[in-house]
Amino acid sequence: MTPDKPRLRMAPSPTGSPHIGNIRTAVFDYLYARHTGGTFILRIEDTDRNRFVEGALEEMMYALRWMGMQWDEGPEAGGDFGPYFQSQRLDIYHQYADRLVEQGRAYRCYCTRERLEEMRKVQEAAKLPPGYDRRCRNLSKEESGTLAQENPNPVIRFAMNRDGTTELDDVVRGHVSFRNDLQDDFIIIKADGFPTYHFASVVDDHLMKITHVVRGDEWLSSAPKHVQIYEALGWQAPVWVHPSLILDESGKKLSKRSEAQTRFLSYIEDGYLPEAMLNFLATMGWSAGEDRKLYSREELIEKFALEGITNHPAIFDLAKLNDLQGEYIRMLAVEQLADMIQPRLQQAGYIGDSLAGDDISYLLRVTALIQDRLVLLNEAADMVSYFYSDEFEYDEKGARKHLAKDTTPAILKAVISKLSDVNSWTVGDIESAMRAVADDLAVKAADIIHPTRMAVTGRTWGPGLFELMEVIGKSRVVARLERCAGGL
Ligand code: GLU
Repeated sequence: MTPDKPRLRMAPSPTGSPHIGNIRTAVFDYLYARHTGGTFILRIEDTDRNRFVEGALEEMMYALRWMGMQWDEGPEAGGDFGPYFQSQRLDIYHQYADRLVEQGRAYRCYCTRERLEEMRKVQEAAKLPPGYDRRCRNLSKEESGTLAQENPNPVIRFAMNRDGTTELDDVVRGHVSFRNDLQDDFIIIKADGFPTYHFASVVDDHLMKITHVVRGDEWLSSAPKHVQIYEALGWQAPVWVHPSLILDESGKKLSKRSEAQTRFLSYIEDGYLPEAMLNFLATMGWSAGEDRKLYSREELIEKFALEGITNHPAIFDLAKLNDLQGEYIRMLAVEQLADMIQPRLQQAGYIGDSLAGDDISYLLRVTALIQDRLVLLNEAADMVSYFYSDEFEYDEKGARKHLAKDTTPAILKAVISKLSDVNSWTVGDIESAMRAVADDLAVKAADIIHPTRMAVTGRTWGPGLFELMEVIGKSRVVARLERCAGGL
């Protein structure tokens, strides 16, 4: 019986830190479940004991929650279809494997590692396609008995249909057909008693009443295995959805790139916002059919349809992510942004653990000044360094260009003298004073502004000069100008 509402699962194997591609798939699962009022399930595919990585599951749960994608069923959430860890469902897999053996759709294979190795070599030498030669597919009782003495821990293999084709309809790929004579009798239960992915995922998807299987394109070639298991057990297959691979800008598979680019947690550490990541990942390989870049979570949920998943490779466009991120940073209230950068400034030693009233208003003023240019939260500490510390470095090139000229001392002295007379230290009065210096010396405003910016901030770029001078305060500004007025 099919449930009336879609049920989708994310089924990570805890074999490493979550990959950006895993999270993109989860975004599609989550958005479709929320769009339809369905259920988003987290199932842990931990049947490969050799590849188990301590902490991988915790990182996955952290990543999903950080994205605001809380699962409805699964670890720490419970649900009626548990356990949600495959390692706790071994009995269930054995029950169905036995059933397939009884039906003649699966068989015990006693081939030793040595024999399989030998077989592979012969196939290779004869340039034959690799695959199991089905020696154990039709053994008599006696033959099985003899072989069992040689190898008491047989695996169980699925007996694939050998004639005709296996067909399926995929939401992204359309109708797909696979030749059965090219399929292998793959293992469903390993010698250690654990199921393989192919078997466990089908059994679980059926028992957990999964209606839509969304998973990376790399699994499409395995789909005939899954389709035949569904048929053999008399079960209805789910709707298949295989979104395209993610490629980098140069057209290479993203998974081949450095870990820094594919490890999802590094985006959290860099200070991307969940809203920006959600918007970015949702629109990487999915489109609502309109020319639009910004979508709030609610809008994505409202608009997300499986038909909008594109069948050409999705490109991981970092410039687009940074552009989105900037947009989301600018949408924040200054108080929110200040809250986000506060721990990073504490870490840098610019502020203490608890801030008093004046410190808070200073932080808010500083934050407001960098909000226009800030992209990553972890760039904030560097961007505000000169607001908090007088001991900053001077950008070498900028200093050579703007502070090392013969005219610099005279210009800075004139600026100091004019600023000392400014009584109300406001943007407007600072600006008038600076322009007056330019007039007095008969030079362009830029000839005054550049050296002043270098002297006050140590760099050639940043927020508006008069604005930042106002925030830094008269005495500190003048002291910094004096430091440079004697030449560097
Ligand atoms: N455990 C598989 C993986 O992590 C899941 C694939 C699927 O969604 O079926 O890649």
